Amino acid sequence: MSSTQTKLKTWQNFVNGEWVSAGSGKTTPNINPANADEILGYSQQSELDDLEKAVTAAREAYPGWRKTPSPARGKFLSKAAALLEKRKEELAKALTLEEGKAFQESLGEVQKSINILEFFAALGRRLNGESIPSELPKNFIYTKREPLGVVALITPWNFPVAIPAWKAGAALIAGNTAVLKPSSLTPWTASLLMEIFQEANLPKGVLNLITGPGSVLGEAIVKHPHVRAISFTGSTETGRKLQALAGAHGKPIQLEMGGKNAVIVLKDADLDLAASGVVFGAFGSAGQRCTATSRCLVEESVLPAFTDKLLEKIRPFIEKMHEGTVGPLVDENQLKKVLHYIDLGKKEGASLLVGGKRMTEGALGKGYFVSPTIFTNVAPSMTIAQEEIFGPVLTITAVKDMDEAIRISNDVEYGLSGSIFTQNINQALDYVDDIEIGVVHVNSPTIGGEAQAPFGGMKGSGVGGREMGHQSLDFFTEWKTVYIDYTDSNRKGNLY
Ligand code: NDP
Repeated sequence: MSSTQTKLKTWQNFVNGEWVSAGSGKTTPNINPANADEILGYSQQSELDDLEKAVTAAREAYPGWRKTPSPARGKFLSKAAALLEKRKEELAKALTLEEGKAFQESLGEVQKSINILEFFAALGRRLNGESIPSELPKNFIYTKREPLGVVALITPWNFPVAIPAWKAGAALIAGNTAVLKPSSLTPWTASLLMEIFQEANLPKGVLNLITGPGSVLGEAIVKHPHVRAISFTGSTETGRKLQALAGAHGKPIQLEMGGKNAVIVLKDADLDLAASGVVFGAFGSAGQRCTATSRCLVEESVLPAFTDKLLEKIRPFIEKMHEGTVGPLVDENQLKKVLHYIDLGKKEGASLLVGGKRMTEGALGKGYFVSPTIFTNVAPSMTIAQEEIFGPVLTITAVKDMDEAIRISNDVEYGLSGSIFTQNINQALDYVDDIEIGVVHVNSPTIGGEAQAPFGGMKGSGVGGREMGHQSLDFFTEWKTVYIDYTDSNRKGNLY
């Protein structure tokens, strides 16, 4: 180990309110995706003993946290939101270094995380049930939400602050305690988020962090007898494996997975607005968003004009990549995967309009940068129009009308987000009715979501209910139904 390496930080686990080393002592380097020569620090490879400690801490903290009134639980979350606001730039810098997101986008993600924690803090005052009339006189029924117990939160690298924040926010406000297993690629931001909760004086054991390979820890987390439910965000492939395992162990699992999101551009659309929305949606965060625009379905009469607009909008992004307009892919695996799909697109007979290559010159050559890529003449059945690429690659397909566009848009295994650009309100609302996705946009990009609104997908994109919004409580709580009989005891109850 060189002297430079010894100075670098190894991010520890956070268990029972303390920072602890993993038993194995094994670490993996955390590499800056914008400069693969730079090691940012080391991520611990936790093993089953470490998992056991984290689950035990969460289990011991559960009775006390469960009994803490939900408005009081909310106060810890508002404190965390305020601390996040104070340390916003620090988190955004770490996010950009670790995950590669452009700094402005990182600031946006941290701001979203603040909004999320503020929302869940306030939800502590609205953990409402229902009062229900009974068929019997002097009887009534009411419902109350109950937490599940210890829950596991497994998260990906592409929103390493916001996704842990929205899962932990919902789980904790509902009264659960949790173990967070973030992506192995983003231990730094996960640790910073944990520091924020520590500084907010969250009682020990309520939220625990362990880093380590999902392939080792994942199955054990799902099978662990004291883990009552699992909330996972990541690829559809991993999600499906976990779903089968959770099913075999009779456990609820929430899965937020991949997307193949389409924008429809109709002939009456504001083409300038549509082109800006498509460029922002497809190439922001280098296309590494589950809601990124991946396909564009354009009415054939406006295809040439729309394509010109698109090229006009994308040019400055390509020319100024060295100024950070489009960030790197997160690691070498992701780079290889995206280049593989670009190659496949060419082989399948799509026409490469722009981009299609790794940036090899100057400083960009040290990182995992791929030039924004657009394919035209893409048949809906091509692999590049069916599978999630998760990089800066957009396909364009001509359609004869909206019906054909909706049919093609729906004809993939995913159903996360989508958008239509049109001035015609009737067509926009028909689209809203017929499109098979969980997050629908009209005249805006396919990306984004606000804390107070439910978020998630249909079909291969989501299972087990929505995240964010008050609907997120549906996964993290169970309903208890209470029957109360207040019939005068002298006159006996209705049933006797
Ligand atoms: P992965 O599925 O590779 O990993 C997600 C998480 O699961 C990581 O923490 C990973 O750990 C862990 N994991 C990996 N293998 C297993 C396993 N066998 N058992 C249990 N856990 C495991 O996804 P990515 O991190 O690559 O994230 C990108 C994907 O996430 C994309 O498909 C994207 O669409 C999706 N996504 C979906 C969102 C949505 O809301 N629908 C939002 C954001 C992303 P480790 O890192 O150690 O491998």
